[in-house]
Amino acid sequence: MKFTEDLTGSQRTTEGIPGVDSSGADVRIVTSGGRCIAAHFHVLASASTVLEKQLERSEKRRTSGGGRTIRILGVPCDAVSAFLSFIYTSRCSAEEMERYGVHLLVLSHVYCVGRLKRECERGLAGMVTVESVVDLVQLARMCDAAYLKMRCLKVLEGRFKEVEATEGWKFLQAHDPFLELELLQFLDDAESRKKRRMRSREEQGLYMELNEAMECLEHICMEGCTSVGPHDGSPPNQTKKGPCQRYSTCMGLQLLIRHFATCGRKVHGGCSRCKRLWQLLRLHSSICERPEPCKVPLCEQFKMKLSVERKGEDGKWRLLVRKVVSAKAMSSLSQRERVELQPHKSCWVG
Ligand SMILES: [Zn+2]
Ligand SMILES: [Zn+2]
Ligand SMILES: [Zn+2]
Repeated sequence: MKFTEDLTGSQRTTEGIPGVDSSGADVRIVTSGGRCIAAHFHVLASASTVLEKQLERSEKRRTSGGGRTIRILGVPCDAVSAFLSFIYTSRCSAEEMERYGVHLLVLSHVYCVGRLKRECERGLAGMVTVESVVDLVQLARMCDAAYLKMRCLKVLEGRFKEVEATEGWKFLQAHDPFLELELLQFLDDAESRKKRRMRSREEQGLYMELNEAMECLEHICMEGCTSVGPHDGSPPNQTKKGPCQRYSTCMGLQLLIRHFATCGRKVHGGCSRCKRLWQLLRLHSSICERPEPCKVPLCEQFKMKLSVERKGEDGKWRLLVRKVVSAKAMSSLSQRERVELQPHKSCWVG
């Protein structure tokens, strides 16, 4: 809809905002290409304090008979029209977002229209591609658009090899070395974060295995399992009870115990299997809290030795004990939710 408005006394054709009744319009917005859009002061002022101030300033400059006029230049007139339309209707069509999303984000940032800004960030985040990511990350930085920037960084992290080959990246390298540095720094940090996460998952898995070995050790020494019974009893008859819940760890440990009983070299003869059991027994003793005499072999002896040596105890061993204790706590928490434990081979008892 076009109508001639003598709001400003000029002969310029002033357009209305599509879908909005222009009657009573008291503001004129001059856009690129010399087009003008009519709007209402109270609507613009209530949506944006920046527009309100601009319009008030323009009021002071107003010549008699002229309307309040501001200029929104540097973006296409239709983008300004879509911007004003959002202010009136709180709506922005998918087509407008696709065509003018970038301009609308800039306008919503400059004029502090928070709702539109959030909508633009979401809309543009869905359009981040290998080709557009560099432009959009620059835009996001300029407009302080954290959500959009985060989406861009995700694409950058996942597809950096492809992004690196785009014209956009080459342009960035030539013209914005600071942003290039910032992005490379981010990628570097992301890589170390990933490595740290993997390392800690691996470590956690190891402590969980150690904890399982501890639990099996107690289970064998207290209840007996398959072929090894408690030292003061014989192995229980397993045929009725079915296979042990932690078959592979338990079997490995039983073989280790039987080996220990018959090995000619023992720990001091340098047998690595005996040494492994020795360490498991020592670890058990370090976390064992049984007040009565414990049935796990050497537990009491290790405890006595430990209380004498406590001052000289080495830090690495203490750390290992702490980690296994926390794995124990975690496993008892997760056991409530765990329906069935998949048997797996533990590297500590093989
Ligand atoms: Zn068992
Ligand atoms: Zn041995
Ligand atoms: Zn014990």
